[in-house]
Amino acid sequence: MLLGAHISISKGFEKAVKDALSIGANTMQFFTRNPRGGAVKALDENDIRKCSELRQRENFGPLVAHAPYTMNMATNKKETADFTKRVIREDLERLEKIGAEYLVIHPGSHMGDGVEAGIERIAALLKEVVTGDEKVMVLLETMAGMGSEVGYTFEQLYDIMEKTGIPHAFGVCIDTCHLYCAGYDIQDRLNEVLEEFDRILGLDKLKAVHLNDSKFGLASRKDRHANLGEGLLGLEAIERVINHPAIKDRPFLLETPGGMENYKKEIEILKRMKDNG
Ligand SMILES: [Zn+2]
Repeated sequence: MLLGAHISISKGFEKAVKDALSIGANTMQFFTRNPRGGAVKALDENDIRKCSELRQRENFGPLVAHAPYTMNMATNKKETADFTKRVIREDLERLEKIGAEYLVIHPGSHMGDGVEAGIERIAALLKEVVTGDEKVMVLLETMAGMGSEVGYTFEQLYDIMEKTGIPHAFGVCIDTCHLYCAGYDIQDRLNEVLEEFDRILGLDKLKAVHLNDSKFGLASRKDRHANLGEGLLGLEAIERVINHPAIKDRPFLLETPGGMENYKKEIEILKRMKDNG
């Protein structure tokens, strides 16, 4: 089973993989750059080589990168669109060198212009920056539907990918907190939700799972992560998610509050659930 968490890369990639291993993880997520945006440090080739060697030695799973929050693919502002395109191009190039498998991106916010306009802008922007020949796959994340967020239904994600003209180039990262808050009842109707995902997107599109409990309830359209078992989803729902036959081999990544100590505790809980499941 692939279990991991969101880890800091501020001391390099080899150190990040070591940190992940130290909390019992065998996969990880990291921000490609400061989540609030900003410049990136030059890549250290020595560090990348050591990171790859360590991953091989430890049979470490996928590296999942997360794009910064400051970009917005659905923006109606040219400067933001230009910034977003530059970040995605740079990040895809860097991630290929690092050997990362996925780049997770929030579809974006339509800024009051409506979901349809947002979908059009996201697809047009992706078409400019993704060719479909990349080794790194862009994953669109399922959103809670807060404010003017786009991408909180499976249909919206399908439309975005179709409109790029190269849907094979994209995958989806689901987030248990976002799904629940968007109105997908993964607590009581996990089978039905996954069947719906399969019908609309195809389960082969589902490449990664953000594992979070939720401070808010079903269809609340709010996005606040809680520690596993301390939110409204609860441990039993989480247990069913990680053991569901259709998705149990995907990388499960914690984005819960509390830092490394907490991740370690939650990964232990997940491993116990796995043994029982
Ligand atoms: Zn995210």
